[in-house]
Amino acid sequence: MGIIIATLSKKIALTDDVFELHYTFPEKKDFIAGQFITFILSWVGGRSYSILEFNEHEAILIIKRWPLENGGRWGSIILCDAKIWDEFKCVWPVGHFILTDKKVSRLFIGTGTWLVPLYSHILQWLALEDGNKYQLVFWVRYKKDLYYLDKFKELKQKYPDTFYYHLVVSRDEADWLIHSGYVTDFLSEKVVHDFGEYYLCWAPAMIESVEKKLNELWVWDENIYFEKYV
Ligand SMILES: Cc1cc2nc3c(=O)[nH]c(=O)nc-3n(C[C@H](O)[C@H](O)[C@H](O)COP(=O)(O)OP(=O)(O)OC[C@H]3O[C@@H](n4cnc5c(N)ncnc54)[C@H](O)[C@@H]3O)c2cc1C
Repeated sequence: MGIIIATLSKKIALTDDVFELHYTFPEKKDFIAGQFITFILSWVGGRSYSILEFNEHEAILIIKRWPLENGGRWGSIILCDAKIWDEFKCVWPVGHFILTDKKVSRLFIGTGTWLVPLYSHILQWLALEDGNKYQLVFWVRYKKDLYYLDKFKELKQKYPDTFYYHLVVSRDEADWLIHSGYVTDFLSEKVVHDFGEYYLCWAPAMIESVEKKLNELWVWDENIYFEKYV
């Protein structure tokens, strides 16, 4: 596995603590949605991040900044506080959170920055215009933690018959666009029926509770795929 240099070329704050970071690379690489890149941070070690998009020589990542007092251990701080043109050593994409090649509609459920691999899959598959439906359930605690709402809206306008999304907050009030409650309560037969595959990306305990809820709604394990970050 070769080490390559990524140069930070753009930084956009999506929320108080989540950043969209663009990195340029000296060479073009192949990328499959669902893969991640690993930064080798000198005194911290390796930190992996899912790739949202890769265009020509530029990769787009979304990284949440974890302060030390909230359990962070420098990796995300170094990356989120970096300046434009800072360079980082990294190992090019690996990972197996890749979709099957079945021609089926798919439901994606994720939260926070666990949205990244799911959204990457959605973008790649919608572009194929294969007629299947791709539905996203994006859950966070507070409305202030939601991001990419303009992108979801644009995607819905571009693919009105194949892209669907639901926004869920567990600790804020509902409004005309956003549901309120735990994601497991939001998932109902109406929301989950009619999909051939289900993709989850989350912490292990949350994956288990969503998987259990899906099973209660007659979704079987063989159709559920997941990536556990930590
Ligand atoms: C395959 C893979 C892909 C990843 N993709 C992303 C990504 O796209 N965006 C992103 O922001 N992070 C992602 N992460 C997490 C990332 O690698 C780091 O763990 C994170 O940035 C925190 O780094 P740290 O050095 O502060 O602490 P670490 O020592 O890496 O982690 C500190 C603590 O924070 C917890 N933690 C780490 N990330 C999260 C999270 N997102 N939500 C809740 N708890 C978390 C860990 O369990 C650990 O207890 C990914 C991890 C893996 C394994």
